[in-house]
Amino acid sequence: ILASLIKGISDLKDIAKFRNMGLRTIVIYIATTVIAISIGLVLVNVFEPGEGISQQTIDNLSATYEGNSNIQGKLATAAAQKDAGPLQALVDMVPSNAVAAMSNNSLMLQVIFFAIFLGISMLLIGEKRAQPLKDFFDSLNDVVLKMVDLIMLFAPFAVFALLATVVVTSDDPEVLLALLYYALTVVAGLISMIVVYCVIFALYVKKSPLWFLKQIAPAQLLAFSTSSSAATLPVTMERVEEHMGVEKEVASFVLPVGATINMDGTSLYQAVAAVFVCQALGIDLSLSAQLTIVLTALLASIGSAAVPGAGMVMLVIVLESIDFPSDLLPVALALIFAVDRPLDMLRTTVNVTGDATVASVVAKSLGKFGKPKVKDWDDHLDNVTS
Ligand code: ASP
Repeated sequence: ILASLIKGISDLKDIAKFRNMGLRTIVIYIATTVIAISIGLVLVNVFEPGEGISQQTIDNLSATYEGNSNIQGKLATAAAQKDAGPLQALVDMVPSNAVAAMSNNSLMLQVIFFAIFLGISMLLIGEKRAQPLKDFFDSLNDVVLKMVDLIMLFAPFAVFALLATVVVTSDDPEVLLALLYYALTVVAGLISMIVVYCVIFALYVKKSPLWFLKQIAPAQLLAFSTSSSAATLPVTMERVEEHMGVEKEVASFVLPVGATINMDGTSLYQAVAAVFVCQALGIDLSLSAQLTIVLTALLASIGSAAVPGAGMVMLVIVLESIDFPSDLLPVALALIFAVDRPLDMLRTTVNVTGDATVASVVAKSLGKFGKPKVKDWDDHLDNVTS
C-alpha cells in the first residue's frame, strides 16, 4: 500500500486531481453501500426469515452459543468501540508512529494517511528533487507485486487448506438447517449486489461484466477462503491494476480505502441479520427503526475491520441503535453465530468485488482506465538463470 500509494500520488502532478478522486471515491462508496443495505432490508422484510424460527430453536441456539467465548469477545469489543465515541475514528486515522502503524494490519487507514501525506509533500518539493524517492518506491512496489505473484503460485494449495479447515470445524448440519432461510436471504442479497456491480460495470465502464468477473476471480477466491478483505488487498490491487488496466494512482488509493471503509456485503448482512433477530424474538421494528438501520449499518460497515468476523461485532452497534434490549444481545448473536463463517466468506467476496467495481468506475470517470499490462512471475527468470 505504502509504495504503491506514494508512487501513485507523487505521479499526479496536480493536487486538485487527488481531491477530485477522493471525493468521487467516497461518494460512490457511500452510494453502493446504501444500495446494499436497501436490498438487504427489502429482502428480509419480504421473506421474513425470522418468523418461522420456533421458540425451541431459539432456546437450543441460546443454550449452545450464549456462553461461547467468541460471542462474549465480540460483545466486549463492540462495547469498547462504542465507548470510544463516533469521532474516535478520525483520531485513529492519524498515526502517532507511522512505522508502528505499518506493522499492524488493523491500522491500514493510518498507513494510507501517512502515504498521502508523504506523497503530497513529495509533490510540493518539485519533481526533480522528489525523483530519487519516487524511483525507490516505484522499484519497491514492483518487488512487492512480484512477491504477490510468487505467493499466488501457492494459492490453490492454500485455498484448499483454508476451506478444509472451515469444513471440518463447521457446526452440526441440523443447526445450519434451522438457519437456512435466513442464510438464503443474505445469499440472495449478496448475489443481487454482484448483479448490481455487473450492471454498473457494463453501463459505465462499457466493458463486458463477464470479463470483469474473470479478471477479479482470483481475488474473489482468496476473499472467500480467507474471509478478510485486508488479507486479499495485495491480490485485489494486482488484479485491478495489471489485469484490468486501472491506473496505479487510482487503484492504489481507491482499493486500500475501500478495503477499510467500503463493505457492501457486510452492511447488507448487518441489515438482514438485525431485522432477522428482531423477527425471531418478536420485536416489532417501525419504519423509523429500519431507516436507523440504513444509517448505522452504513457507519458500521465503515467501522468494521477487514478481518474475519468483524461484521458481527459491528452488528451489535446496529442493534443497539434501534434500542434492542441489551440483555438479549447474547441471544441475538447466538441465533446467527452458527452460519456466520460461511456468510462471512460470501460477504467478504462481495466487499472485494465492490471495491474493484468502484475503482473501475472512478478510473473511467477520470480517464484512467487503460489497457491491461499483465506481468508474470517468471518474466525475467531467463535473465537470472543460466
Ligand atoms: N470479513 C469481512 C471483510 O474482511 C468483514 C466482515 O463482514 O466480517 O471484509
